[in-house]
Amino acid sequence: MASLFRQPIRNLRGVGAKSEELFRKLDIDSIGALLYHFPRDYEDWTNPAEISNGVVGEVCCIKAKLSAQMRESRLAGNRYLVNAEVSDGRDVMRLVFFNNRYITSMLKYDTQYIFRGKLMRDFGGLQMVSPVFIPADSEKSGLHPVYRLTAGLSNNQIQRAVREALKLLPSEISDPLPEEIRRKYDLCSLKEAIENIHFPKDRKSLQKARKRLTVEELLVLNLGIRALKNHEDTVSNVKLEKDFTEEFLKLLPFILTGAQMRVINECTRDMQRGKNPMNRLVQGDVGSGKTAVAAAACYNVVKNGYQAAFMAPTEILAEQHYKTLSKYFENTDVKLELLTGSLSASKKKEARQRMAEGKVNLVVGTHALITEQTVFKNLGLAITDEQHRFGVSQRSKLLAKGDSPHLLVMSATPIPRTLALIIYGDLDISVIDETPPGRSPVKTMFITGEKRHRAFDFIKEEMDRGNRAYIVCPLVSEDEQSELAAAEEYAAELMLKEFSDYPVGIIHGKMKYAEKEKAMTAFLKGETKLLVATTVIEVGVDVPEATVMMIENAERFGLSQLHQLRGRVGRGKEKSYCILLSDAQGEKTQQRLSVMCKTTDGFRIADEDLRQRGPGDFFGERQHGLPKLNIADFSDMDGVTLSQKIAEEIVADSPDLSSEKYRGLRASIRRLFSSTDARMN
Ligand code: ADP
Ligand code: MG
Repeated sequence: MASLFRQPIRNLRGVGAKSEELFRKLDIDSIGALLYHFPRDYEDWTNPAEISNGVVGEVCCIKAKLSAQMRESRLAGNRYLVNAEVSDGRDVMRLVFFNNRYITSMLKYDTQYIFRGKLMRDFGGLQMVSPVFIPADSEKSGLHPVYRLTAGLSNNQIQRAVREALKLLPSEISDPLPEEIRRKYDLCSLKEAIENIHFPKDRKSLQKARKRLTVEELLVLNLGIRALKNHEDTVSNVKLEKDFTEEFLKLLPFILTGAQMRVINECTRDMQRGKNPMNRLVQGDVGSGKTAVAAAACYNVVKNGYQAAFMAPTEILAEQHYKTLSKYFENTDVKLELLTGSLSASKKKEARQRMAEGKVNLVVGTHALITEQTVFKNLGLAITDEQHRFGVSQRSKLLAKGDSPHLLVMSATPIPRTLALIIYGDLDISVIDETPPGRSPVKTMFITGEKRHRAFDFIKEEMDRGNRAYIVCPLVSEDEQSELAAAEEYAAELMLKEFSDYPVGIIHGKMKYAEKEKAMTAFLKGETKLLVATTVIEVGVDVPEATVMMIENAERFGLSQLHQLRGRVGRGKEKSYCILLSDAQGEKTQQRLSVMCKTTDGFRIADEDLRQRGPGDFFGERQHGLPKLNIADFSDMDGVTLSQKIAEEIVADSPDLSSEKYRGLRASIRRLFSSTDARMN
């Protein structure tokens, strides 16, 4: 197999220099790579239907035979048309072919065929336009691979090349999965898997092939991440000699929950051990109180004589953390600094100077913290809030500002636990699984546009009782200019009409920082009671007096995003509400949104989200820093769990995989991790 990765694709029959170029566009540069270009889908030619069972409007396979003379006609512009009629013995269907002169000689009158195409009905009855077909007794009936293509290279050409490549597979190929593991978990051999992933005999053999390849890929990923994690040779120079947690508790206006306390202790222990630096993910649902945990870690580090940096993904959030921490540390000797992109150049310069000289010991900021100009005197702790908003490389840039400082990353995106293990496999995980006392779950309702005015009335009632409200306005498009226009237009309409008697603010992503901050402060102080917002308020914003949120076009958001948005209310003692508005009538939408009404458990919502949308959308475009997977996907919980189990067995057997039987796996790990520049921390 390995040698096939060195053989150029033009060694295959039927592949010349020109198509070699095209294959390269698909990242296929060797015969081995071609064999690993797995189909993205399959056409099902098994179980052809009878004409009367075909579903109009859908692609169907129908078994039938010519039942009338084919008619050829010439159209304007030298175009050519063939009309045929086929029958399954009971019903008839018309076939129409354009510009294919060979059809009349290809289709035989005495042969049964399977025709595949979109079934349509017009005044003349049922018909298919330009169906593809094979003789019904052909061995080709089965599942046909559908490949990712590039212009100039057809699915047929790729199929043919793959068939040629498969012929070159030696009868015995070395298999990265040792036989004992394959036998134990009923995984087929690599050779069988590769053959069947391209040309499966039936669904069952496809499933077997897929399972085997998926498990192998996830296993390699899993083992690779473990190997990275085991690099425990960096010794942190930042060792906390004394624990100041007791002192910190006195600074807080509330009593920590048991979960918060536990996580703080986990962090302190990490930072006291004097070996490798802390590398910890704190996962806690929205409102679970992660900021206080971060504050405790900062306090401990600062009191031990080091600097701490706290990075947030948005300026609003950085500002908010800065204010919160300033209040906590008001009567202490902790000196805080705020560093964000929108400070004036001279302010930034001054701030950076103080950081470099060690005159400040706690810096809260945005991406401005990781630019080149930022220098710390002795950074001991780096924190990133809302980790999913940062790329892995940003995390490492912040770390590079110190001499192996401790790292704490916080995330409210409740990634299912098994998945977190893969993605953050290089991190230890703490979970804040308790919310501060006195909160009741946000009551969530789903209504259609007709009831919008009832929702408005409800919002007014809440405001009359002294509470505050958010309205998340419709998402129009990704286009920034129109987002701005739509948000402002929508807000203006509300201000002028429905809410003319109430102080209304607006906040959206295109506002200047000073404007955003003004809008946020006004809302925080209660000068405005209703805040019309885009998703800029999605992360972290904390206004405990807000008790109701209405979300327009709720169907446009992913469940996890809705959960984040909803997390902006229910942060105080008052009962809170979330109103999802949508006119989308589809059953799927209804089902999706009803999940939001049924639960406030972020983990369940994330699971559901992952199931419904698949991992691509779940993670969005945001980097999670993992190598690109070829066949496995992160939502495949069975595969994830099984590979986890196998990985544990292998590591127990041979911790550094040095045993000869794992040679193939070692090679695969090297290949997977060198194929991306993914840095794991
Ligand atoms: P998140 O985990 O979403 O970042 P925050 O840290 O913003 O949550 O905390 C949410 C709110 O709960 C804040 O207003 C904070 O002051 C408050 N809070 C945090 N911990 C406690 C606690 N133990 N008791 C009472 N209120 C708390
Ligand atoms: Mg937060």
